[in-house]
Amino acid sequence: MTTTVIGYPRIGSHRELKFAVQKYFKQAISADELAQTASQLRHENWQTLSDAGIDQIPSGDFSYYDLTLDTATLLNIVPARYKALHLAPLDEYFAQARGYQGEHGDVKALSMKKWFNTNYHYLVTEFDDDADIKLVGTKIFDEYQEARDAGYQTRPTIIGPYTLIKNGRFTGHKTASDFVPALVAAYEAVFAQLAKQGADWIQIDEPALVKDQTAADLALFSSLYKPLLAAKHGLKVLGQTYFGDVRDSYDLLTSLDFDALGLDFLEGAETLPLVQDHGFPADKILYAGVINGKNIWKAHYQDKIDLLNQIKGAAAQVVISTSCSLLHVPYTIENEPQLDDKYKRYLAFAKEKLTELVELDRIEAGDTALLEQNEQLFTQPRYVENETITKQVASLKEADFHREPSFEERARVQKAEFNLPKLPTTTIGSFPQTKEVKRNRAKFKKGEITKEAYDQFNRDQIKACVEFQEEIGVDVLVHGEFERNDMVEYFGEKLDGFLFTSNAWVQSYGTRCVKPPIIWGDVSRNQPITVAESVYAQSLTDKPVKGMLTGPVTILNWSFPREDLSLKESTYQIALAIQAEVLDLEHNGIKIIQIDEAALRENLPLRQSDWYSKYLDWAIPAFRLVHSKVAASTQIHTHMCYSEFDDIIDAIDDMDADVISFEASRADLTLLDTLQKDHFKTHVGPGVYDIHSPRVPSQDEIEGTIRKIVAKIPLDNIWINPDCGLKTRGNKETTPSLIHLVAATKKVRQEL
Ligand code: GLN
Ligand code: ZN
Repeated sequence: MTTTVIGYPRIGSHRELKFAVQKYFKQAISADELAQTASQLRHENWQTLSDAGIDQIPSGDFSYYDLTLDTATLLNIVPARYKALHLAPLDEYFAQARGYQGEHGDVKALSMKKWFNTNYHYLVTEFDDDADIKLVGTKIFDEYQEARDAGYQTRPTIIGPYTLIKNGRFTGHKTASDFVPALVAAYEAVFAQLAKQGADWIQIDEPALVKDQTAADLALFSSLYKPLLAAKHGLKVLGQTYFGDVRDSYDLLTSLDFDALGLDFLEGAETLPLVQDHGFPADKILYAGVINGKNIWKAHYQDKIDLLNQIKGAAAQVVISTSCSLLHVPYTIENEPQLDDKYKRYLAFAKEKLTELVELDRIEAGDTALLEQNEQLFTQPRYVENETITKQVASLKEADFHREPSFEERARVQKAEFNLPKLPTTTIGSFPQTKEVKRNRAKFKKGEITKEAYDQFNRDQIKACVEFQEEIGVDVLVHGEFERNDMVEYFGEKLDGFLFTSNAWVQSYGTRCVKPPIIWGDVSRNQPITVAESVYAQSLTDKPVKGMLTGPVTILNWSFPREDLSLKESTYQIALAIQAEVLDLEHNGIKIIQIDEAALRENLPLRQSDWYSKYLDWAIPAFRLVHSKVAASTQIHTHMCYSEFDDIIDAIDDMDADVISFEASRADLTLLDTLQKDHFKTHVGPGVYDIHSPRVPSQDEIEGTIRKIVAKIPLDNIWINPDCGLKTRGNKETTPSLIHLVAATKKVRQEL
């Protein structure tokens, strides 16, 4: 059989691209030098795939920032406000990704959203009425040519027009169908050019098909693909889907003139039955996603072989592939020399998954030794068990998930307790992780400084941070999270049941990467995690300091979960551990505690019909379990990151927090209408400026935003804060931004 992958990670096995792009932002390297690094990384990837023995190698899966943005840019879907800056193409591209503030003007970034059910984020394509869609870019052609010149005949990949539309935003009067003719023409031009260059295949990604599809959706899909597939210019077209099954569009897809279809047999619960019951056309190739592109566990070959045999029973031509792009897993366990082999032999990152694809092919060809060797891994229990904790989870009762007294009663008690001004100001927790903060941690990790010296440095940072907040007049302070490398890893390191890597980075957005821990056993808390820092910060001021925790759903979603335990059970174990920390903070005099659920939406099933039954019905109770035992006067905050909330707003209210802060600024505060309409009870800080951009908002701009919020949300329910933690920013922009935030709030308060 033939082997391939949908895509490969691109940030570099040691995050070379991240560092090069950041240097470019700081003007420390030129566009040419950046291009050189990028080219080298692409060559390394092609070489790796080729060395591993992968038959069909993709190209075009590289990106400086994001593939959706690349596709929109290729097709000239660039809002006028960016074009008006008259920047060089690369700078215009980055201006869309991160906003621009400089000699040429002052423009916010495009909005950013979660990419389906992953922790990757894409930039939302804006379809303005005056958009002039046509092929203008060369990226996909250049990369194809670059590979070809290096001796690789690749399969160029591109995000398809349907997914571009479904993930996009229509800002004017026009709707999707108005853009269909231009999109068809533009994609056809891409086909024509690739064919001219000598490409045989193109992979066109349409993951939007795995969501629930209406008849109108399918009609839109047909209106794009009927004409497009009638104009292939001799190219063969692989329609690639992932993250689920295509139950609504299967018959349509198989009836259209695709030369191959890529289906996900892992997350797609219905994929195998669809192929078996509806049949798969003999003239098409089935790209079977059987190697998991999201987890880091070695595949159980016998299961995969059984699956492949069933697939082959239903389809004449099968290519073995990954369930989704390998973008969502780290590069290689070769970068983890410190990890004991007793763990490593169970793990497969991107590079090891290439070997798995090739080995499956060899097993299919009769190599039984490989099968037996693999089988040995699955005969013994591998995870560390803790009976106390499993019993505790098993004996949880309904009452453990409910906080008393009611929200309204608590709000009354807390109003008296804290006596805060109207529009109280706060931040989301972290302050800039400066060079010095990172250097201190690095020195400690290398053993160059003592634990005392390390802690003392962080205490000095906390002190300075508290003083700064007092000085500028913030109402509810934070300690700044200087001791944390990452909001999940930090907790994982102090809890039992987690395993850590050194270099297993996964791209989250642009230059931002995360290093998810691996859940390797039952999770429990055997020591306080955050108490010392919070208590120290509180000792420095009379104003309340918020304790700062990561919630159980986020810890789970941003870790690699076990395969033998349900997500629900794993999350409840983590929830009990965080509950103990909440109670410890409360016991030590911390009166406001924020429990971040930044990633709550991430694992929401892609099909709405599954939302409650497969996820929210345990995820929301898991959060309530964490804070159900605190006193009425203890104020519980939570925070959620950039993503859509409108459709789960009731579930969010049901978390029963006292206050929630959201990212709303980068989505133009459209959330406010939902909050207003649905009588959201939880007090709310909608986020008055975008911290994912280096732009400094002026006092005026923030005043405008606050007024918009005041116009829609009851005054007593409003908090004023940035829209996320400040750790990725520098002090250079953070200091003026927060000064403007407080000044703007004071100004609006006077008008009330
Ligand atoms: N408290 C965290 C911080 O400020 C929250 C970060 C997040 O939501 N991603 O960094
Ligand atoms: Zn956030």
